[in-house]
Amino acid sequence: MRMYDLIYTKKLGGALSPEEIAFWVKGAAEGSIPDEQSAALLMAICWRGMGTEETLALTLAMRDSGKRLDLSAIPGLKVDKHSTGGVGDKTTLILGPIVAACGVPCPMFSGRGLGHTGGTVDKFAAIPGLRVELSEAGFLRSLRETRFANSAQTADIAPADRKLYALRDITATVESIPLITASIMSKKLAGGADALVLDVKCGPTAFMKTLDEASTLAQSMVDVGTAHGMQIRALITRMDAPLGWAIGNALEVMEAVEILRGEHGDSELAQLSFRLAAEMLIMGGAADRLEQALGMVRARLQDGSALETLRRFVALNGGDPGALDDFGRLPQPGQVVEVRADREGYVAAIDGRALGLLAMDLGAGRKDRSDVLDLGVGIRVRARLGSKVAKNQPLFTVYAKRGVLVAPGPFLRTLELVPEPTAGRAWLLKTINC
Ligand code: URA
Repeated sequence: MRMYDLIYTKKLGGALSPEEIAFWVKGAAEGSIPDEQSAALLMAICWRGMGTEETLALTLAMRDSGKRLDLSAIPGLKVDKHSTGGVGDKTTLILGPIVAACGVPCPMFSGRGLGHTGGTVDKFAAIPGLRVELSEAGFLRSLRETRFANSAQTADIAPADRKLYALRDITATVESIPLITASIMSKKLAGGADALVLDVKCGPTAFMKTLDEASTLAQSMVDVGTAHGMQIRALITRMDAPLGWAIGNALEVMEAVEILRGEHGDSELAQLSFRLAAEMLIMGGAADRLEQALGMVRARLQDGSALETLRRFVALNGGDPGALDDFGRLPQPGQVVEVRADREGYVAAIDGRALGLLAMDLGAGRKDRSDVLDLGVGIRVRARLGSKVAKNQPLFTVYAKRGVLVAPGPFLRTLELVPEPTAGRAWLLKTINC
């Protein structure tokens, strides 16, 4: 088999066989196929796409490039969640402890942030002492003892994805539905969960800008999961404004804890987290109907057991559970600056992508994979979509490093203020079942 022929076939829009795909993935991961040939094939896939059989074969080849976790020693159906990434998305910190407190084991592997979106691993890293890279034994112990485990993806899970993703990142080939499907689903299948809820983000701040694109990606992931015996369903949710008030790692821990304490229950972030948790409870066999599952979620918030599960997870994995009650023990910023409205109006739009990039510039996110984060910096978004703003009202609180000049203009430009109130908007756009 020659890599040249695979590139040529795909360049003309032909289909690759499972054997050809396995040859490529193995060679790319081992280094026997040069990066420039893999990059050429990735670009051809971006333009020409892949059929369902090809996407399935690519997912399997990537899953089988590394280790598969065996969770069979943990009783019950294990349920995972994956979000395709947004600004301010801290749903894992909220729903993991809730689902676990309801009795359903929740094994989760997370990523680090890059560009305008944050990563769950970085948010957990803001809890002092918490180990965010668990060994396999540590992961299983956490799952057994707290029913919740979250770890950075280990190097031995789908190593071919690591290699190919790094190439995609520098060759503008990330935005491809079959490549995204295989990348995400290979890791999820290797992670060993029985069921998966997907939160596919849709909008100007997400990979998928239109409902059509987001639906195609969601259906593609649902098809691949189903073909491999995974119970899977997808929600397509809006991603334009930041999710919740916090952008930045320690701030996002604070917001997640506040929701676990029962605060901000009617916010979009809380509603999304509770809905995803409820879907996970149904898939895990703890509830039959959505209303029943949402009732279980509310009960675990009210009796404090969801927050207690997070405390136990943190303590078990070396972290300071006291930091969840005393936010002064979380990483702190060097300075705090208020940005106030320069005129009055109604908030018609908040540009989540621009705010994500501003938070990255403050040091909360990475421009480059090697960047070291400042976990205490970030942005509190005080402006609410649809609300009336008076001149001089604080719209953002900026938590920055000491000595950094914080100019208000770039923050104010992320808001669209209009003279009349605008209609409300739905956060849940569509659901897709297996
Ligand atoms: N997240 C992944 O893990 N892979 C992709 O291709 C895109 C987002």
